[in-house]
Amino acid sequence: MKRYLVDSHVHLGATEDGAPIKIGAGRTLTLSRILGRLPLRGVDVCAVVDLGTTRGLGELERALATGLLAEAEDGGLRGAEGAVLVPALEAEFRLPGAGPFHLLAYAPGLDGARELHRIYREGVKNPNLSTQRVHMAPQEFLRAVESAGGALAVAHAFTPHRGLFGVGLTLEDALPERSLLGLELGLSADVEIARQVGAVGDCGLLGGSDAHGPDTIGREMNELQGERPGFSLLVRLCGGKAETIFGMHPAFGKYHRTYCLACARTVEAPAPVLSCPADPHHRVVPGVLDRALSMAPPERQRGYPAYRYQLPLGLLPGFGPAARRAIATRLGSEHEALHAASEDELRASLGDARAEAILSMRRGAMPSRPGGGGHWGRYARPTHGA
Ligand SMILES: [Zn+2]
Ligand SMILES: [Zn+2]
Repeated sequence: MKRYLVDSHVHLGATEDGAPIKIGAGRTLTLSRILGRLPLRGVDVCAVVDLGTTRGLGELERALATGLLAEAEDGGLRGAEGAVLVPALEAEFRLPGAGPFHLLAYAPGLDGARELHRIYREGVKNPNLSTQRVHMAPQEFLRAVESAGGALAVAHAFTPHRGLFGVGLTLEDALPERSLLGLELGLSADVEIARQVGAVGDCGLLGGSDAHGPDTIGREMNELQGERPGFSLLVRLCGGKAETIFGMHPAFGKYHRTYCLACARTVEAPAPVLSCPADPHHRVVPGVLDRALSMAPPERQRGYPAYRYQLPLGLLPGFGPAARRAIATRLGSEHEALHAASEDELRASLGDARAEAILSMRRGAMPSRPGGGGHWGRYARPTHGA
């Protein structure tokens, strides 16, 4: 068994010639751009969640025809620099009386991508675009994905915006019959939050970056052991085999605390707070932490992966493109810089100020103000030696 780093949620913004696939993702986020970034980030395997769209599948077929990608063992698609892509699909579902939520399907190889596309095309109005509403019961979608040899995960489960728990549903509401199911924490939650929620059940926890641009690939990812870098790693993740999830401190996340839309303010009182302290009639966006702490705790013990905090280097002061290239050539990858390189190595290759920024992040840098209502937590520049 070897250790791999897997980003289980990266979007494909557009085709190489600029036709949009994931609305809201950058047009620069093409298949070749994703492949170019993976080695810099230290990502071994990356699930691209828009390859089941008509345009995404077209990009995949073209990449295989031109040699940008080659089909590898275990349902992986290998790029020239060694990183492996796994076909995936993010899609939206809705149950009566609740807001929409997202699911992630993973499938092996070109055939798997074609199967995802077949399922998606039947259920949506515009299969060119990603994350469209699928007019199919989630349980039926799960069955279709499984009979195509794929695996399913709940996307950003706690997020009030299109997360299953965030819109007030449970796994029993959406997917009452399931064997293997992954559950993505989302950027505003971590393992510590999931540990306090019984509704998580036996789902395999996973951390995905939900990257909408090249710079956010790998901002959250999973470390696990496996035989080969391919589809089976995603199955293992959905089965609870993540050893460590690397991700942001949830207080940086956009939906960490409850936010009042009328007062335009994030609540500050200890969680859970699910209404505006000034006026209970104000409309709020419930925070992930607040929602989680108001749910029932687990009735029994289960295993949980470790969680290690990281911030995207772009959020730390002094990490422009030149510094990031220096990391790639001198330290190997950004993951190495963030988690593995010694203090001496960091100081020697990046200088004292940048080394200090990484060291303070490792010590658990917290935002000066938590995120909420769609606003990121604000990063406070560390004071020297703090
Ligand atoms: Zn989503
Ligand atoms: Zn997404």
